[in-house]
Amino acid sequence: MSDWKPVIGLEIHAELLTKSKMFSSCPVVDSVTAAPNTAVDPVTLGLPGTLPVINKEAIEMAMMVGLALNCAIPPFNQFARKSYFYPDLPKGYQISQYEHPLCVDGYLDIDLEDGSTKRIRVRRAHLEEDTGKSMHMDGGYSLIDYNRAGVPLLEIVTEPDINSADEAEAFARKLRAILQYLGVNDGDMSKGVMRVEPNISVMHKDDTGFRTRTEVKNLNSIRSVHRAILYEVERQIKAWEKDEGVRRATFGWDEAKQKTVLQRYKEAADEYRYFPEPDLPIVEISPEWVEAVRARLPELPNAKQERFMNDLGLSRYDAGVLVADGPVAHYYEAALAAGANPKSVANWLISNLFGLMNRDNVDRQDIESIKLTPEKLASLVKLVDDSVINKQTAVEVLAESWETGDDPAQIVETKGLAQISDAGAIQPLIAEVLAAEDKMVQDYLGGKDKLFGALMGKVMKALEGKGNPQVVRETLTQMLDDMRG
Ligand code: ADP
Ligand code: MG
Repeated sequence: MSDWKPVIGLEIHAELLTKSKMFSSCPVVDSVTAAPNTAVDPVTLGLPGTLPVINKEAIEMAMMVGLALNCAIPPFNQFARKSYFYPDLPKGYQISQYEHPLCVDGYLDIDLEDGSTKRIRVRRAHLEEDTGKSMHMDGGYSLIDYNRAGVPLLEIVTEPDINSADEAEAFARKLRAILQYLGVNDGDMSKGVMRVEPNISVMHKDDTGFRTRTEVKNLNSIRSVHRAILYEVERQIKAWEKDEGVRRATFGWDEAKQKTVLQRYKEAADEYRYFPEPDLPIVEISPEWVEAVRARLPELPNAKQERFMNDLGLSRYDAGVLVADGPVAHYYEAALAAGANPKSVANWLISNLFGLMNRDNVDRQDIESIKLTPEKLASLVKLVDDSVINKQTAVEVLAESWETGDDPAQIVETKGLAQISDAGAIQPLIAEVLAAEDKMVQDYLGGKDKLFGALMGKVMKALEGKGNPQVVRETLTQMLDDMRG
């Protein structure tokens, strides 16, 4: 294994969240939930006589992504016809970009496990239109839904700079976060609005050039991308070591079997007969336009992480965790807006809420649909920070609010969980405990200091876990000292 290293380049397709399609005013709808063929028009269906018109919003969204990926935006770009036949492509060609893409020569720095960063070059990002969706039905027939046909699609292509499944995962996660921060894509791979396709080969330590690569499609989560790469790398190393070699091919991913499945061999380059799209003008992009779009870029993950560290005092690690997923960053900032202390809420979010989410298999991407809203987490954190409840009680209240969505303040009120911080109220209970535990008290006074913890435990139990630990500790210490006389 150590003689080999993986070589990976990613091709990522991201649908853009524009109001209308790439080349017409037909609305863009959710292609999973909308009724089939309800968002179609003559351009979408490629009817004879129709002409495409470029969607300016799509161009600007794509420019935003390019700029966020440190790309250059050349002074002009051009659409091109990519001809191939498939039932979900009604025109018989896809309008894409070929020789003159919108964005070129960028990079994205990814954070690795060991704390270092690595620069992955982005070769290009070009605009095209998505295809419809074929559904192959039992019974040997297919249905086609054209809602997705013509939806603006950005294809981002990296150089083969990625050398492990972990690096590919880090790249995909960071890119997904950037798309989410920009508001151009929600990153939901299970719905296919973001699709990550790794090109994979392996290199022997004595190699001077790349070996044959394969491509994996149909990956519906970042975790599957990671697993498919591990699987494919191992398969290729074995094939080379057995002298079988690797053939240029496209694989699918079988989620149930956790293995790649051969779809087709690619003996020769596909012949798409690209040529400039005659029905569309060349798109000229002035430096002023680029700067106007750049000025609209929101705060991106790296900048947000720095701000969380510098302004809110979070550790690099915590800040990194909070910015890594768009929805999590959004949730955290909503909790701050609800008035919670930044450090406390970061702790409760990372140490406790994520724990509950993991336990119940709730993906961090879905944090915005949990019952425990950011306002409720903020409410819980305030109860702890104001010493209304102690930590132990807060953990229980959090779990309850997680299940029911009830407001933590309400739960504390209804169940009478507010902690007892009044020394005057605590003293008689401590006196009872000390009387009942006379032997332990005598041993403690006789020098067994470590019995203090046990006595503290007895008192907390007598207070049904609601005692303010600091007040209990101080009062108990005081009362034991008084007994020494
Ligand atoms: P094509 O021109 O056939 O589309 P490209 O050279 O443009 O192929 O590469 C397509 C994708 O494959 C890019 O993401 C690139 O980084 C990646 N790639 C190219 N060569 C290799 C290789 N030997 N191993 C892994 N990935 C590769
Ligand atoms: Mg493409």
